[in-house]
Parts: sequence; C-alpha cells; structure tokens
Amino acid sequence: MVKLPIYMDHHATTPVDRRVLEAMLPYFCDEFGNAASVTHEFGRRAAEAVERARGQVAALIGAEPREIVFTSGATEANNLAIKGVAWMHASRGRHIITSATEHHAVLDPCRRLEREGWQLTVLPVDRYGLVDPDDVRRAIRPDTVLISIMAANNEIGTIHYVAEIGAIAREHGVLFHTDATQAVGHIPVNVRDWSVDLLSCSAHKLYGPKGVGALYVRRGRPPVRLAPLLDGGGHERGLRSGTLPVPLIVGFGAACQLAGELLEAEMNRLARLRDRLQERILTALEDVYLNGHPQRRLPGNLNLSFAYVDGEALLMSLPEVALSSGSACTSATPHPSHVLEAIGRSEELARASLRFGLGRPNTEEEVDFVAERVVAAVRKLREMSAIWKSRSD
Ligand SMILES: *Cc1c(COP(=O)(O)O)cnc(C)c1O
Repeated sequence: MVKLPIYMDHHATTPVDRRVLEAMLPYFCDEFGNAASVTHEFGRRAAEAVERARGQVAALIGAEPREIVFTSGATEANNLAIKGVAWMHASRGRHIITSATEHHAVLDPCRRLEREGWQLTVLPVDRYGLVDPDDVRRAIRPDTVLISIMAANNEIGTIHYVAEIGAIAREHGVLFHTDATQAVGHIPVNVRDWSVDLLSCSAHKLYGPKGVGALYVRRGRPPVRLAPLLDGGGHERGLRSGTLPVPLIVGFGAACQLAGELLEAEMNRLARLRDRLQERILTALEDVYLNGHPQRRLPGNLNLSFAYVDGEALLMSLPEVALSSGSACTSATPHPSHVLEAIGRSEELARASLRFGLGRPNTEEEVDFVAERVVAAVRKLREMSAIWKSRSD
C-alpha cells in the first residue's frame, strides 16, 4: 500500500535529501564559524566548507567556482541579475527583453523597472510555451541592456531554446540572464554551451534546503558588471553582502553533487513514470489537453487541462494527493495562470488544469494510485456537470 498523502508537487519545492541533511548537520553546532572570520580555525573551517560547496555548485553547471555568488534563493538571484544589470548600465540603455511565461521573480522586478522608466519587451510564446529565438533577435535594440529568458518553465515544464537565444545575445553584445531554477539538477545545464552571462538557481528545487540559491556571474571578457542589491560587509565579491549561511550553503553543495551523480538515471526514471501517468489518464478520459511541449519538457512535469471540471473542485476531491492547479490562489480571487493564458488556453481550461510534479521519492505505485484517483475524480465531477451532460448528448 502507498503511504498517504502523496507529494507530487516537486516544482514548488522538494524535500531535503537525507544525505544532504547529514552533510549539513556538523555546521550548526560544531563547525559554526563565520566564513569571513579567517583569523582563526573556526572561521577558516567554515570558509573551506563554503569553498567546497561553491565548487560543487559550479561543477553542476559547468562554471568556475569564483563565478558563483550565493544568495537567499532564486528570487534574490533574479532580482540581483535584473536590477543589478539595469542599474549598472542605466546610462547606456534602458531596454530589457523577457518573456510572457517567466516566473514572477523575473516578471515583477522587470515590471518595477518599467515603472521606474525602463522599457520592457515581453515576448510571446507559441502554443507549446516556446519563445522563438528569431523574436529575440528582432526585439534587440541599440539600447537593450539585458535579455532574461528562463531555461525551463515551472508550470508546463517547457525547455526553452536557451543555447540559441544565448548565441543571439552574444552576437549582439547584449547580456543574457536565464532563470534556470527548474533546470539545474534536473536536466544537463552548461553555462558555456548556453552562452549565458547570468544564471539563477535555488537549492530547495533540487533536494537541498530552503533559503539558499546562487547567481552565476560569468567572468572574463567582456566583463559582466552588476550593481549589488545590498550594501554591507562586501561578501561574495561585493555582490551580496551578509554573513554566509554556512549550513545551507554546505547543503546546497551536497545537493548539487548528488544531483549531478543521479542526473541521467533520474531523468530516465522520472520521464518513464511521467509518461505512465500521462498515458493512464489520457487513455481513461476524453477531453484532456496537454499543456506544454510533448517532447521539450522537464522529465518530471505533467500539466493537463480537464475540460468540463473546475481545477479547484478537482483538487478538493483529491485530498490524498499534493498537486497544484492552474490558478494562483495567492489572492482572494484566484486568477488563472499567466503561463496557461500565454499558451492560449481559455480561462476555463486554465482553471481546469492540474500540474503534476514528479520527483526523486515518487514510485510507480504512487503514479498508479494518483492516475486512478484523478480519473475517478474527473468522472465524478463530470457526472455532476450539466455542460458535460449536454455535450455528451
Ligand atoms: C521556485 C522558482 C523561483 C523562486 O525560487 P526561490 O529560491 O524560492 O526564491 C524562481 N524561478 C523559478 C522558475 C522557480 O521555479
């Protein structure tokens, strides 16, 4: 029997892997030094642990350790990349290019800059959620200072043409940032192959602790110049002042090391489980639509719209499974996802969607259980729906 409830919302967050926790534990009570206090053994040991972790994070994305700036997470990394570039280059140009399906941690800093006088081009996506690299090329202007396009979408899993967009940015001498929070640790990521100048990621999306992430800042010519968000002790090469959270950073490093070792096997295992879940649901039910790209998507992602049912009602009828729906309930009146809207889903279908996020702990038994429950719940809700009845008559 499967243990309930089942967690299938790994795009929102992941549990800390036990091996990661083990690596972190010594750094709370015994190895508690301040990594900036290198005049004594306590500080030096903490600093060594941070540098080891920096190497582990860098290795997972094909970077050099000194290109990694630790932050509190991807939200901060995105803000540092976007505002940092905008502020530093304000006298040269004030145009930024991004896309319609970015995470709010990219869209909101861009919107704030827009209110403060910057100009924003928000590129559309096609019905699979992809930005056309030619659209990026056409949007570049003499005053463009930054292109920010995510690596993989957190709702529909679509994997963007990052390397193609990176090549275009480089050819035009425009800095390129990618929010790779859903990609790092889940698909191969290489900052050189992608020609990225700035890349954001977060530990808690890859079985590490919450509250730590990183911004990759390319070194070398031409230099990537950024203004910091925080002023203070000048930690992290002046880009992120504040005492380093050593246990979290050690956990982030361990999580990256582990993710690198497991990457291929987990990609195959999760894609197989995801395909099984998709097939079981699609063969049992009619009028179910796949959101995202059928091939270019994250191995653990499945996002479906179930016509003639309400997503919230569907979630409520599935108390044993932790999933998320296509409407954001962050406000009093849930509004449908901007991502589903951007790929052209009607408001109705956007509201009737579920996001399944499979992860490291999920098993085949859980997938079968979830498929069966979802099919039963959709059938039951449709039986009660007048529109469904009139449609089948
Ligand atoms: C989760 C997520 C974020 C936010 O990361 P935090 O570390 O929680 O701030 C940003 N972008 C994407 C694509 C995400 O999935």
